[in-house]
Amino acid sequence: MKTNSKNYTEILEEICTTTIAPEAEKIDRNGTFPEKSINTLKKSGLLGAVSSPEVDGLGLGIRGATTVVERIGQECGSTAMVVMMHFSGTAVLEAFASKEIREAAARGQHLSTLAFSESSSRSHFWTPTGTASRNDNTVVLNAHKSWVTSATQATAYVWSSQPVESKERSTLWLVPANSDGLSIDGVFNGLGLRGNNSSSIVASKVKVPFSARLGPDGSGFDTMIKIVLPMFCLCNAAASVGFMRAAIDRTASHATHTQYEHVPPSLADLPTIRNYIGRMKVITDASRSLLLEAVSAVENERTNALFQVLSSKAAAGESVTQVLDLAMRICGGSAFRKDVGVERYFRDARAAGIMGPTTDILYDFIGKTVCGMELFS
Ligand SMILES: Cc1cc2nc3c(=O)[nH]c(=O)nc-3n(C[C@H](O)[C@H](O)[C@H](O)COP(=O)(O)OP(=O)(O)OC[C@H]3O[C@@H](n4cnc5c(N)ncnc54)[C@H](O)[C@@H]3O)c2cc1C
Repeated sequence: MKTNSKNYTEILEEICTTTIAPEAEKIDRNGTFPEKSINTLKKSGLLGAVSSPEVDGLGLGIRGATTVVERIGQECGSTAMVVMMHFSGTAVLEAFASKEIREAAARGQHLSTLAFSESSSRSHFWTPTGTASRNDNTVVLNAHKSWVTSATQATAYVWSSQPVESKERSTLWLVPANSDGLSIDGVFNGLGLRGNNSSSIVASKVKVPFSARLGPDGSGFDTMIKIVLPMFCLCNAAASVGFMRAAIDRTASHATHTQYEHVPPSLADLPTIRNYIGRMKVITDASRSLLLEAVSAVENERTNALFQVLSSKAAAGESVTQVLDLAMRICGGSAFRKDVGVERYFRDARAAGIMGPTTDILYDFIGKTVCGMELFS
């Protein structure tokens, strides 16, 4: 069956059950890129979820992207992360890249990602210090990117730099992964999302054609705010909701099936345990409601859409750590020993709050908005 915008959830469900779930534990244990899962998603056409039907994409928009990432997040955080970065990069390609590149991204033959964070500006990705200087029809890039998901697997990076001439904050470029002068630093060995293949990348006199520019010189910040932030923040929130839903299923199953020989017979017969599970559910549902509200605000171009997007990522990033803490507490020694399968989500969950814009920065932005202050002054 070929995937289309009507049957995509059925196909997604099948891939999640038959491929992504069985691969997840091995990817986490070995810290390897989720190659089989990504290839299966590619073949199904689901990597083209946010690409326009004009280039043979599914045209599912931000609602479809978050649906896909949330469902994958229930099985494998690393795969969800790779897919969310592909959707975030592809949203930029859809706006500014050639038809040929957009077609390749829609087919999943061009795996996209973002190269925004730098060792100098750290989580303040909106102020790159990497440079771009023009030499006739060529641009020379120098930078130290600190984290790039899918670093060794992406086809090209959506890359931020200081503008060439403009006085604005940044300019975006499409930098092929095989460009001379790029060096990828080491293998990812992190606490969670262990298969996301994130590495730092140094660009030393990397030459790209001037036509590789994504949008006008100096328009990078505008693209980050209007195109990247909604897609990235809401997919990130969706992945967190996926982790929380998986944790509830596993925790409830453990609590109802774990027997004591004396009274009460199961963990779930203890009121405290039921109370914790109830809390997990309420926190998760609240995050999911905020996510759906933000998706709707973006779709309808509501004036408060950006605020909703920031709130959704902040809430989900905070909630996912609370829910996974509760899961670890309820499942006790079995969770600590990996028997229940919640500790992988517990580790994966820690990334949401530190991925830019981080939860602390989001709270600051939200506070500024509430107080009627400028976000980026
Ligand atoms: C798994 C993973 C994958 C990633 N993939 C990518 C990718 O593909 N592309 C990409 O560009 N980046 C990526 N990143 C990087 C990410 O977006 C952040 O840039 C990075 O995590 C920031 O880490 P840092 O410690 O350098 O931040 P720092 O800026 O050093 O922040 C450290 C702490 O200080 C707090 N802080 C900083 N500034 C403020 C402030 N103004 N107000 C309040 N608190 C503040 C932060 O909230 C944080 O808790 C990835 C990160 C992770 C963890």
